[in-house]
Amino acid sequence: LIGKKNHEENKIIQIGNLKIGSGKAIVIAGPCSIENEQQIDAAANIVKKLGGHILRGGAFKPRTSPYSFQGLGEEGLRLLKEAGEKYGLPVVSEVMDTRDVEMVSKYVDILQIGSRNMQNFSLLKEVGRTQKPILLKRGMTATIEDWLMAAEYIAYEGNEDIILCERGVRTFETYTRNTLDLAAVPIIKNLSKLPIIVDPSHGTGRKELIRPMTKASLAAGADGVMIEIHPNPCEALSDGEQSLNFEEFHILMKEINH
Ligand code: PEP
Ligand code: MN
Repeated sequence: LIGKKNHEENKIIQIGNLKIGSGKAIVIAGPCSIENEQQIDAAANIVKKLGGHILRGGAFKPRTSPYSFQGLGEEGLRLLKEAGEKYGLPVVSEVMDTRDVEMVSKYVDILQIGSRNMQNFSLLKEVGRTQKPILLKRGMTATIEDWLMAAEYIAYEGNEDIILCERGVRTFETYTRNTLDLAAVPIIKNLSKLPIIVDPSHGTGRKELIRPMTKASLAAGADGVMIEIHPNPCEALSDGEQSLNFEEFHILMKEINH
């Protein structure tokens, strides 16, 4: 369903006036986790002001340790929706559990499936039965074929509004958190009609690599990027080391918009 047949047009996903996959790259930005009202409001304000298109924020966090901050849950989604409405930005957040799909759908414009759940087939089927666009992140050990088949599960249930997101894969390299596979971008463009964006924050784990990898992603033909930003990354409750502060985000936005 999502494969590219001869001369078939690429899929464009429309959210309000925003078109994803139309040739103009989009920027999704926001904190790793929604922490409180001031934090998400400040992030939404800067995303809007600098010309970003979509606000991100995690409310259900797939943390490696059960003792790490797990996210604010439904209260976080409420804060995210409120900030999105206040600044006129669509919002995206991760859903981790089939039991939460209906509830999360009430708050977000795009449902995110995280790397760790890319082959959670029950979850893929459940979101496939919704009408919401799905942001499907590549599993950290998934081949491109595995990833496209995961997207196929969603499409098979009736929902073909799927945005793929390259976020790096596990390799022997330890300098970076993951190895960002930018070749996946043109490969996906050849194999599939779906839009693909890149997440250089999780893809590298290091804030100094976000700017060059964002530019490389766009040069490779990505339909957009997703970037973690935080008003004070040193105090972030998750992923501060891969989050830009607002000044750094400003520099990046100036650079990609000329
Ligand atoms: C995220 O984007 O919030 C996230 C947890 O990323 P990933 O699933 O790619 O690790
Ligand atoms: Mn994160």
